[in-house]
Parts: sequence; C-alpha cells; structure tokens
Amino acid sequence: MPQFIGKFMINLSMENPDYLIVGAGFYGSVLAERLASERGASVVVIDKRSHIGGNCYSEFDQETEIEFHKYGTHIFHTNSKKVFQYLSLFTEFNSYHHQVLTTHKGKVFQMPINLETINSFFGVNLKPFEVANFLDKLKSKETYENPKNLEEKAISLVGRELYEAFIKDYTQKQWQKDPKDLPASIINRLPVRSNYDESYFNNGRYQGIPLNGYTEIFKRMLNHKNIKVMLNTDYFDLKNKIIPKVKTIYSGPIDRYFNYQFGKLEWRSVRFEKNIVAHDDYQGTSVMNFADGALPYTRIHEPKHLHPERTYSKDKTLLLYEYSEKNEDEPYYPVATTPNKELLAKYQSLAKKEEGVLFGGRLGTYSYYDMDQVIAQALKDFESFKS
Ligand code: FAD
Repeated sequence: MPQFIGKFMINLSMENPDYLIVGAGFYGSVLAERLASERGASVVVIDKRSHIGGNCYSEFDQETEIEFHKYGTHIFHTNSKKVFQYLSLFTEFNSYHHQVLTTHKGKVFQMPINLETINSFFGVNLKPFEVANFLDKLKSKETYENPKNLEEKAISLVGRELYEAFIKDYTQKQWQKDPKDLPASIINRLPVRSNYDESYFNNGRYQGIPLNGYTEIFKRMLNHKNIKVMLNTDYFDLKNKIIPKVKTIYSGPIDRYFNYQFGKLEWRSVRFEKNIVAHDDYQGTSVMNFADGALPYTRIHEPKHLHPERTYSKDKTLLLYEYSEKNEDEPYYPVATTPNKELLAKYQSLAKKEEGVLFGGRLGTYSYYDMDQVIAQALKDFESFKS
C-alpha cells in the first residue's frame, strides 16, 4: 500500500524530498511513479482531496456494491501502444467498448450521428453513398458563409433538422446559454458517419475499463518506498509555510498558482446525483444522453454496464444523473473562447519564468485532455528531465 500521511504529520523540510508533486491524478501519479522507480528519487505527492486518482477516481457504492466513477464515466481508450503498455504495468482491462446513445422525444438514437441515426430520424433507408447528397440538401436550405455563433455553425454543418433535434437543447443545457450566444469557435466539426459504425472513439485501438477499477491503478503506481502521499493537503496552505526550495511538479489550476492576478480562467462544471432503482438493468447502456430541453439533466450514467465481466446484484442498479452547472470549485471543462485563450497566454508566460516548477496536467495547462494524453504528456515530461 502507498504510504498515506495525515495532513499535519509531515514536515516537508524534515522529509527533504527530491520532488514535491501537487495533484495525485494521472499527471502527478505517473511522474511520481517514474521518478521513484526509474530515478530512485524521493517524492512527496499532495492532493487537496481526500483520495488519490484525481478525476479518474472510482469507488464502490455501499448500497449496491457497484463501482462508479465519482467525476463522470471514464473509458480508457488510446491508439498509443506506449501508453497502453505503460498502464498495463498496473492493470488489465476488460472488453468494454464505448457506444453513446441519445434520447430525443422518447426515442433512442445512436451518437455520433451515423447512418442508423439518419435513417431512423428521417424515416428513410439510405445507402452509405447516398448520405453526402442527402446532407447537402439539408444544409442548402439554410446557409451561413461566416457563421456568427454556435447555432449558425452547427446548422451549416448538419442542417437545421438535426441541429434542432440533437444539438440545440443539449448545448443549451451543457452551457446554460442559448447556442446563439455561444461563439462558433466552440465547435470545429460535427462528425456524421455515412455507415453504421457505432463505436464512440476514433482512437480506440486499445480500449476498456481497468479490471479492478481506476483507484487500484493509482494505489499500485504510488505504492513505492520512495513515495509519500499526503491527502487533504492544499498546496496553498503549505506553500509559504513549510515547503522548502524543492523541485515542484504542479498539476493544479495554473491561474490559482499565480493568485488569479490577471483574472480567473473560465471552466464548465458538472454535478452528479445518485439514484438507486429496483431493476437489474435500467437503460441497457452505460451512458445515455438526453437531447431535449424538457429534461434538466444531460445524461444518465449506469455504471453497472462498465463491467460486464462482474456479477452484480440483479435486484437493483445505480444511476448517476448528470447536470451541467457553474461551479468555480469543480473545474471540469476549459472554455476555449478568445478571452480565455488570451488570459491563459499571460499565465503561461509567468509559468515559463517560474524556476523549479513544472506545470502539467489538465488544470496546470488549462486543456481538455483524455487520460491517454495526460499519461503521454507525463511520460514525455519525465523523459525530458535530466537524470
Ligand atoms: P486531475 O485528475 O484533475 O488531477 C489533478 C489533481 O490535482 C486533483 O486530484 C486535484 O484535487 C489536485 N489539486 C488541484 N489543486 C490542488 C492544490 N492546490 N493542492 C493540492 N492538490 C490540488 N478521459 C478519458 O480518457 N476517457 C474518458 O472517458 C474521460 N471522461 C471524462 C469525463 C469527464 C466528465 C471529464 C471532466 C473528463 C474526462 N476525461 C476522460 C479526462 C480525464 O478526467 C483527464 O484526462 C484526467 O483526469 C487528467 O488527469 P490530471 O492528473 O491532469 O488531472
């Protein structure tokens, strides 16, 4: 087991570690593991939460004994053999392959939009080679040379019918803003598949859920005699007190590090509400989107489906209703608007000058990264360290 240490029990100046790592998510944990195992470095990892694993943390619901992902369903997927091989040092994966469905007016459709979605929604029976022409006709009804907002951009990409059914209300719920008031730059493209491919990820060569859950991966990574983990420990409570000049790897929010001196970077947040129902299987899939504005939640997660290899109770199932909201304390998705990009550039220029501190991970770089990208970034950063 990793050595977990109570908040006030460790004095970093006494410990004198080679590295202080802020954040026990994938970025911090991969670097801790590599530095300890490959370089023999001593590492203290701190996290302000009461658990390791960052946003990939999983735990068991006490009533149903179903494992769920506290910060939203996480499916590991990558095309990188290097990342897959590295993670395989700590876990095996099950055979789960992700598919996303969406409910619109009580009917279930496949997402991203594919041939099944189009045929079912329009009541047609197109062949793959007929899709491009069909879409062109939809798009030609309303054209925008220079879309001024998200609505115009989406309509120019898929036409008004598909936009109104699958994008308009869902986007409004996600952003709590009318798509007419959102910048066009938020979407570059909307994938439309002209075949029946229903796999969600394009980069899904290696895909699955860790057999023993995500938290177990972090326990194994941090289980090293040179690594100490301090939970419930906020870097900013320690920074000016006991932290000596120690090389620091920081995966917390970049704007927070600089005391928000240029202003706060904007994040989109989500909240989950648990519900237990007396069915073996409630919705037949792990994630169901709800496209219509009449329902306040964006998705229902049913984590039982993430582990088809496990035997869970057939009497009940756990559901997590996902709501979008503004919550500065729970940063989930960066908002890629021009003002945020400009703000980020200012913080990045300060970060470059900050001696002895490496900024990384999703919060430290203000980027949306999938797990494999964060792991790849950590492995690359490790390789760039001088021994
Ligand atoms: P985190 O996991 O966020 O770790 C950062 C840690 O730093 C946190 O534990 C935080 O508590 C800690 N910290 C912050 N500030 C301080 C401080 N001041 N002091 C001490 N500690 C601090 N990726 C996929 O590949 N597949 C998916 O299906 C997928 N689903 C996702 C669903 C959602 C809803 C979201 C938001 C993301 C999803 N991701 C998914 C992305 C995945 O969550 C990230 O790639 C991953 O969590 C990034 O790891 P990290 O270490 O950079 O950040």
